[in-house]
Amino acid sequence: MRVHQIGGVGFDSNIYLLIDDVITLIDAGTGMKFGVVARNMKKLGVNPEDVELLLNTHCHYDHTGGDKDFFMLADCDVAVHELEADLIRSGDQIITLAGSFFGKKLEPVEVSVELRDGDHIKLGELILEVIHTPGHTMGSVCFYERRRKLLFSGDTLFCGGVGRTDLPTSDAETLAVSLRRLSELDIDGLFPGHGPYEEKNAKKHVLDAIKYVDSQTKDTLG
Ligand SMILES: [Zn+2]
Ligand SMILES: [Zn+2]
Repeated sequence: MRVHQIGGVGFDSNIYLLIDDVITLIDAGTGMKFGVVARNMKKLGVNPEDVELLLNTHCHYDHTGGDKDFFMLADCDVAVHELEADLIRSGDQIITLAGSFFGKKLEPVEVSVELRDGDHIKLGELILEVIHTPGHTMGSVCFYERRRKLLFSGDTLFCGGVGRTDLPTSDAETLAVSLRRLSELDIDGLFPGHGPYEEKNAKKHVLDAIKYVDSQTKDTLG
């Protein structure tokens, strides 16, 4: 079992390649840098056609724009939280920020797996638990590997920050509740949707994020 970050170029989100019995991607980037992503995969001995499961942390275009490429090439299962599945299926341009923010078009993609809080996804050695963490978007999820204490956090939590809460379906107070849920987990490795990841002692980022979001929401409420 191996975990590699193979994205994050340009506007792309980070893209995590999980090499296990089921070859899995967490997020797909915008698709604008598909060639770079494909090369990064091949260096690790995996072809884009080999991807069997594509897990999206949320609907935003910088994470889902590349879904179509992998779906077409690999015929993989595409998964996203049930609240955002229809946005991907219909190629929503507004809530996904595809048109309004990125000036691109999200291609509709068939979602075969609708994620729900508490789902367990067995990839082989890795078992990912789905934690619904709304706040950045209504259908944001984190994927938690309990035995190895790994958290794939999308745009809910970064190593030193949190995702924006001024976007469609965002809510800062809801994000604060989601972060408190994450604070109950043992977290060693934190693999966020943007920026650097950390493999050890990353729990501090959850606690810092709670302090930050609490201070912001109190300001907003006056
Ligand atoms: Zn993002
Ligand atoms: Zn986002």
